[in-house]
Amino acid sequence: MLKYANFDIVFQEVPDEVTLAINITNCPNQCPGCHSKYLWENIGKELDMNELESLVTQYQSGITCVCFMGGDADPKEVADLAKQLKTKYTNLKMAWYSGKNDLPQNVSTDHFDYIKVGRYMAELGALDSATTNQRMMKRLADGRVKDITAWFRKNKKVDFVEVEKIPAE
Ligand code: SF4
Repeated sequence: MLKYANFDIVFQEVPDEVTLAINITNCPNQCPGCHSKYLWENIGKELDMNELESLVTQYQSGITCVCFMGGDADPKEVADLAKQLKTKYTNLKMAWYSGKNDLPQNVSTDHFDYIKVGRYMAELGALDSATTNQRMMKRLADGRVKDITAWFRKNKKVDFVEVEKIPAE
């Protein structure tokens, strides 16, 4: 079961989208330098389809994307909720901020428009750092996946790099 601590409407986390970002708890990653250690605890409200729909209904007119922030303790559930939500709200993009370097192979990422992977390592920095180890990928309408990490450094002129497949362990 997934739980979440809180949510916010954000503009930077997913490029060109107005995003309902849901902070999922029980994070197993223990990244060095984590700024959100409260998310390590198994706290908060259950995040099931009813709860998701309730949030989306409240903010639907103003958002273009829903982002699952975390959920690595139960990645199948994250993928399943994204699939259900995308099927019902076809106009909304789906995003996932995973703290894993590689996603589990048995988890389908087909319903995500954006996926961020990579542990947070303070010495390398987050997505907007030139030295970051993290990657943001975007699925294009034709199914190809591109690495758009450079966009976080305001460098949209960089021709983004096609990714053969989303990293999976
Ligand atoms: S993925 Fe890493 S940075 Fe994010 S909440 Fe978990 S431990 Fe912290």
